[in-house]
Amino acid sequence: MQIDRSTAWPYDSDGEPKEFVYQRYAHPTGAAAEAALGALEGGDALLFGSGTGAVIACVFAFCRPGSTIALAEGAYFGTGVALSHLAPWGLRVVEFDQTAAPPEEADVVLVEAPANPVLTLPDWEALRAHPGLVICDATVSTPVFLRPLDEGADVSLHSATKYLTGHHDALLGATITRDPEKREQLYTTRLRLGLSSAPDAAAALLRGLDTLEVRVRRQTESATELARRLEAHPAVLRVRYPGFGGLISFDVADDSARSVETSTRLIVNMTSLGGVHSSMESRHRWEGDRIPKGLLRFSVGLEDVEELWADLTGALERAG
Ligand code: PLP
Repeated sequence: MQIDRSTAWPYDSDGEPKEFVYQRYAHPTGAAAEAALGALEGGDALLFGSGTGAVIACVFAFCRPGSTIALAEGAYFGTGVALSHLAPWGLRVVEFDQTAAPPEEADVVLVEAPANPVLTLPDWEALRAHPGLVICDATVSTPVFLRPLDEGADVSLHSATKYLTGHHDALLGATITRDPEKREQLYTTRLRLGLSSAPDAAAALLRGLDTLEVRVRRQTESATELARRLEAHPAVLRVRYPGFGGLISFDVADDSARSVETSTRLIVNMTSLGGVHSSMESRHRWEGDRIPKGLLRFSVGLEDVEELWADLTGALERAG
């Protein structure tokens, strides 16, 4: 794939700017990747330097000092951290159980479908009835399983660092909306605040979208089988799996989690999710007591399901 890494492009012979001017505004690889992602989600996509950058762009585009943002409990820890960082700027954050109605007073509601790592799903009927702006982080679902704009969200959001690029080699975020005014607010925020994506990351998205459906369907097949087997394993106390996608969270005894996560061989003990290689980690180390000590977040990759099961059971036995 040809990647144009220019940060600036020549004006035309009359000295007028052409389609691409300066990389922070837009670049050809980003525009191509936005068109491809927008087509999948049924809206207008914009790329950002990271998923967190996309969240921050939403805040600066749609909130004002004194605005209240309602955030789904159990949503990605870093999103809550990023929003709380903006408290001195006057952003008020309230957490709520996304399986029920969001607080009435919220100007913006931010849900995650499903929430990482507790894997709850939002109540779409309650969201459609809410007067505020609804943003849905669909990182874990991907457009293969969920198109949030079809469900009634105003903005769909992704950490494209995960399934959309799929290889743990690109940091990238995205928003998708059908409303030209909201797209413009996000675009202006991106270029003014420097939240733009890099051309190489956009190229990774173009590459990732070519295989997205095949990857996540295979990951779902394996995750469904592994979740079923984990449910029946005597060392496993609880399995959280929404029935689609490649992410499973399961609980073992508090004092076994560290031993399980460090003794798998095929499944890599590291953070992040959504790659072609399986990875697993305890989330308590990062999130503290909001997450059970024994919860392990397992991102199922493309390896053979029997090899994954042998790796998991070996680790569970060694810990037990
Ligand atoms: N949203 C979800 C659901 C995530 O899991 C993550 C990262 O783990 C983010 C957003 C943040 O994305 P990034 O790490 O690309 O900033």
